[in-house]
Amino acid sequence: MAAYPSVNWWSGNIRRFESRVSFALRFRELNCISGRKCLDFLSINPVDDTPVGSGDIKRLSAILGEPLSDVESLFARSMGFDDCGRYAPPRRGRGRQFVRYCDVCANCGYHSYLHELEWLAKCPFHGCELKEAWIGKHAGSIALQHMDALNAVMHNQCGSWPHYDNDFPAANQEHIVALENWVVRARRAATRASDAEIWCSAPHAILGNISLAQAFGQLRALACMPEVIEPFVIETGGTWRVQRRQFPNEAKLEIERLDILGVSFSRVLEAYQSIAYVSAGPPPFVTRLEQAKNALQERHGRCHCEWGLFRGGWESHWVKVYPDEQQYRSLSCPFEVALEELERGWGGPGEALIGRKAVQEQLRFIFLAHEMHTAGLIRYKSDADVSSDGYLYVGQDLTSCCIWEEKSPLTKLLDTASTWEIDSACSALSMWLDDIEEGVRPAQRDDPKYCVRLGKAGTGLSLIRWIPAFGAGRPRRPPDPSDVSQVQ
Ligand SMILES: [Zn+2]
Ligand SMILES: [Zn+2]
Repeated sequence: MAAYPSVNWWSGNIRRFESRVSFALRFRELNCISGRKCLDFLSINPVDDTPVGSGDIKRLSAILGEPLSDVESLFARSMGFDDCGRYAPPRRGRGRQFVRYCDVCANCGYHSYLHELEWLAKCPFHGCELKEAWIGKHAGSIALQHMDALNAVMHNQCGSWPHYDNDFPAANQEHIVALENWVVRARRAATRASDAEIWCSAPHAILGNISLAQAFGQLRALACMPEVIEPFVIETGGTWRVQRRQFPNEAKLEIERLDILGVSFSRVLEAYQSIAYVSAGPPPFVTRLEQAKNALQERHGRCHCEWGLFRGGWESHWVKVYPDEQQYRSLSCPFEVALEELERGWGGPGEALIGRKAVQEQLRFIFLAHEMHTAGLIRYKSDADVSSDGYLYVGQDLTSCCIWEEKSPLTKLLDTASTWEIDSACSALSMWLDDIEEGVRPAQRDDPKYCVRLGKAGTGLSLIRWIPAFGAGRPRRPPDPSDVSQVQ
């Protein structure tokens, strides 16, 4: 601080929606200092989107002579989906090698964080295509490289750089206002849904981000998007709908009781699916699974598939095959893979208990059963072989040793969640198979994720299922119309 008694900056110099890189770069240029000194002095990372603490905001406000609210808006982006949990669109990787900008904005010495958002297709101020300035391959931090790349753009485009001589951007452009209002509404709804969430489905533990199309389809269902901003969004995501079912307070209290015991809903669901699948009177989700498998087999008929899955030791890949030739018979076709996925996902651990990982799977199930038994969710059959401390012994049909307590306030919820998971998987598999029939390679698959979610709602619980009614811009098979409503 002692080395910088005053700075060349003035109140009102921060520009609306300005990017952090642009702000840091202008500070560097106006004060004729090196990038490194600039970043040390400001003590910010301009290529990082994480929030800046209130202490730093106050410090910068005092140094720059800018109102606190303007410094806050520089670091807390009003148009972003940062707090939306699993509803958020995928974010760019940390090491992006270019700065995205608008030529016309750059004429005014202006660069906005809006230019860098993946989900915006065009400059929101001018409607023109965005350009990319690749960062040079030289030493220095990624932040400095981004500043240098933007500096080169500005020197080319803006005669008065680093000064600007107009009041661009104007605050009241119609579509900017509409865009900002929509983002605020959609973010609020998504944050509320995300905060209330207790569990979301991730069959086969396929995690990661949802696609841009899914994110925007869902956000548009949560908050209706004005037509005026649609052309600015890279992907509107088609129409998504939500199926919703309420469960009473009794179920919520049971979840809370289990939470205190350290038993998660996903563990309970896994146990329920394994045990109910082999029970004497299988619950409705098992019937749905059988229907789904039959429908797939019927659609498949005699195999004419042109793809086979080659499974190596650690990896597998799809190869083109001629279905009638003997050499390809050992490979699974897409329909067989789809059937396997359904069986592996909801067919109980029976099959898994035979394979290579049988021992681990058996042990896993023994611990799972013990956890459920302790929580009072299952009973062991009278003839089950159980140790004195309540663990099943190996060497018996483990899942058949357990009886689900039908009276549990969660039974109906668990069955509906399982049924909806199967419905979601079928819908995704059917889209994948449609795509393959239309010439898409089977490896190009991006199923919707986290489609079934459980959240707290008032005095009870709300189970929801997200349903893509249209995918990739073309009509799909319509979803089951039962119980479907628009979210608002
Ligand atoms: Zn522009
Ligand atoms: Zn086939």
